[in-house]
Amino acid sequence: MCGIVAYLGKKGAQPILIEGLKRLEYRGYDSAGLALLGSGAIRVKKTRGRISALEEILDEPNADENLGIGHTRWATHGEPNTVNAHPHLDFTGKIAVVHNGIIENYATLKTWLQSEGVEFVSETDTEVVSN
Ligand code: GLU
Repeated sequence: MCGIVAYLGKKGAQPILIEGLKRLEYRGYDSAGLALLGSGAIRVKKTRGRISALEEILDEPNADENLGIGHTRWATHGEPNTVNAHPHLDFTGKIAVVHNGIIENYATLKTWLQSEGVEFVSETDTEVVSN
């Protein structure tokens, strides 16, 4: 079962999100990721595997990134791999989504969005939400 954490405050979000995800590890997961927002673009870091693997690919914490979301995934739609790990950005890169559960009508929504020119990068149901 997936885990979700979020932070908005005065501190850098990255270490707080990692600590929160570690507290949720007992729920089980196949991949983990973070989305962080400071003064620039949203920065996403994610990987298949354990939170320790995510920590290995993180940059130094940035104190300006004081808004963030984190996720541990239990795959239902698409393989447990890095591309399918959450968060998922919309096609403009301005919206990041983490999600627990299943979007029952995702196939219909995905087909419609693709007909509008939206390109998808993952196999997940979740990516229709960001788009
Ligand atoms: N259905 C989503 C996926 O497969 C969310 C799974 C979950 O709850 O972790 O990515």
